[in-house]
Amino acid sequence: MKACQYVEIGAAPKVTDIPKPEPGPGQVLLKVSAAGACHSDEFIMSLPAEQYAYGLPLTLGHEGAGEIAELGDGVEGWELGESVAVYGPWGCGTCHACAQGKENYCRYAAERNIRPPGLGNPGAMAEYMIVNDQRHLVRLGDLDPVQNVALTDAGLTPYHAIRTSLPKLLPGRVAVVIGAGGLGHMAVQILKALTAATVVALDLKEDARQLALDVGADYALPSERASVDEIRKISGGLGATAVFDCVGADATLALAGKMVHEEADIAVVGLGGGSLPVGFLFPPHETRVWSPYWGSRSELEEVLDLARLGAIHVETESFTLDEAPTVYERMHAGTLRGRGIVVP
Ligand code: NAD
Ligand code: ZN
Repeated sequence: MKACQYVEIGAAPKVTDIPKPEPGPGQVLLKVSAAGACHSDEFIMSLPAEQYAYGLPLTLGHEGAGEIAELGDGVEGWELGESVAVYGPWGCGTCHACAQGKENYCRYAAERNIRPPGLGNPGAMAEYMIVNDQRHLVRLGDLDPVQNVALTDAGLTPYHAIRTSLPKLLPGRVAVVIGAGGLGHMAVQILKALTAATVVALDLKEDARQLALDVGADYALPSERASVDEIRKISGGLGATAVFDCVGADATLALAGKMVHEEADIAVVGLGGGSLPVGFLFPPHETRVWSPYWGSRSELEEVLDLARLGAIHVETESFTLDEAPTVYERMHAGTLRGRGIVVP
């Protein structure tokens, strides 16, 4: 079967021909219907050999959806052909975090080498993929897999971050999303769907600011110092109550620290490698700075329900499996609108 694989450190991913996998006991084989391309893929492919820990060759794609093609021994309760999304952050399934559905914070995943698909295990950018356990399947029902596959990460990650800040996002408060790409354009919609806060998006690119406005942002501003003053004005002098930094660079975190008021939340969502110095006088007192990673299984179901309600939708550009390497070229060039989706 065909797969899009990262084969050599520093080289572009390529389409290869590999054996079709067989599901072992407890596993499920999916015929992939869609796979999303995330900026985190580009991040891991930018790592030097000494920091790269995901194995080679690596079949990419940690956002996956497919039809059930084969059930391994002991798996029951699924129809062949059923359409499912894959919950990506795989854990051990039995520790305290996993018991709560928070496999993203599994206590044993690292030491037992339990890796997400596309980030250590073979991912969804292939004709078929193995899901290691049926608890990582979520039924899609009528939801179109191509339109919704990105909800498994680009939807789930901001949903988890925003959900945590909901009690603070009172009507009239200002929520800021930095970086209006795959995750950011979902963050804008999730904020509009779940809160009565004013939503401001910041991006360097005019196209991305336009996308943010198109999907419901109240304001879209350039990612620069002057926008901090603008956000103060928009918030009646108060400042931002929650910032979802989907870039996470030094420059964006510095802006985040300057735009918030006391007791605000700053979520460092992006892997931009930046940091925000936190001390007694800065950022404002009781600002909570945190770095959410992905989300829980039940939150994924909630995100899919938001899509079913028509409250959120993913802006997508589709590519064939043969074209998969171009998705990353387009991502690198910053010319994708929303999420690039590979459709085998
Ligand atoms: P993307 O490429 O789709 O979008 C990134 C957007 O950020 C683009 O619109 C770009 O113009 C904008 N941008 C870049 N630098 C900027 C700056 N200095 N100021 C403002 N905007 C800027 O990327 P994505 O797939 O949405 O991923 C966003 C980030 O989130 C990546 O770093 C990715 O690795 C990370 N990520 C984190 C998690 C997590 O669990 N925390 C999950 C998925 C992705
Ligand atoms: Zn991702």
